[in-house]
Amino acid sequence: MSSNGQVVLLAGGVGGARLAHGLQAHLGPGLTVIVNTADDVERHGLLVSPDHDTVMYTLAGIDNREWGWGLAGETFAAADMLGRYGEETWFRLGDRDLATHIVRTARLRRGDRPTVIARDLQRSLGVAATILPMSDAPVRTEVRTDDGWLAFQDYFVRLHQEPTVHEVRFQGIEDASATPEVEAAIQAAEAIVIAPSNPFVSIRPILDVAGVAAAVQGARARRVPVVAVSGIIGGAALKGPADRMLVSLGHEASALGVARQYVGLIDLFVLDRIDAALEAPIQALGMRTLVTDTIMAGDPGRARLAGEILQPALDR
Ligand code: GDP
Ligand code: CA
Repeated sequence: MSSNGQVVLLAGGVGGARLAHGLQAHLGPGLTVIVNTADDVERHGLLVSPDHDTVMYTLAGIDNREWGWGLAGETFAAADMLGRYGEETWFRLGDRDLATHIVRTARLRRGDRPTVIARDLQRSLGVAATILPMSDAPVRTEVRTDDGWLAFQDYFVRLHQEPTVHEVRFQGIEDASATPEVEAAIQAAEAIVIAPSNPFVSIRPILDVAGVAAAVQGARARRVPVVAVSGIIGGAALKGPADRMLVSLGHEASALGVARQYVGLIDLFVLDRIDAALEAPIQALGMRTLVTDTIMAGDPGRARLAGEILQPALDR
């Protein structure tokens, strides 16, 4: 790997966290994750930032591997009590997790910047990498279903991603801009990686923040490689609605369908061996390809995929 190994990862929640964890194993503090905040939500008067917290807990090594979400050793006494008070509990917050949202919300009320709060939370948990909210301004994803526009977590958690998504929009995106921290990280990057996260609701909001896509293009102009990893394997998402969204938004549920979302933005596309037949049509989009095993099983699987991505990205 070349010089100081500064790498930026654009990430949503679970898929983002897995690759972030693998990259952190190689890069330590050289990794900066720019995380989606458009699926943030207010519950019980507290600001919850699901993608940031999934990445933070995973990088701190305190995520719940058995469930695939939340914190290890989590309990739900507070959620049960909220239920007794008649509060809606479809967005079930664990006891330990609640502490994160309490600190975040108290500090926001005191006027601290979301980026500064996030960094302090990460430091308290001993995270080696830096996780930056995509913007300090609030952005909220909404999806249009047969029943009209829904707030993202209504669709995702309350309705279990069952409604068909016809359109996606990001409320507040016009007033959101890249923070100095996000701009500096992209400026310093020797490689930029797009996680196998949902292209429409995890990656697109990050790229739509004013200044982010331009900074990535600026990096490309300096010959910094930009790499994306397919979250669609054999035509299906490992978790979540990305495959169904591809179809309902007018695309193909395949690694090729994902690659098309990043035309003109990336140099290298990483796809699974099972999709090797798509290599030629993906290359025809004007990008190089890396075919490998993209399922990140356990710590070794995460570090292996991260290493395979870093090699062509950084050894130019
Ligand atoms: P969310 O914000 O928690 O919904 O998660 P993301 O948007 O970050 O990631 C969801 C995507 O990650 C799904 O489309 C999954 O297919 C993908 N994903 C999860 N684990 C893996 C993995 O091990 N390998 C690959 N290639 N994709 C994965
Ligand atoms: Ca998410």
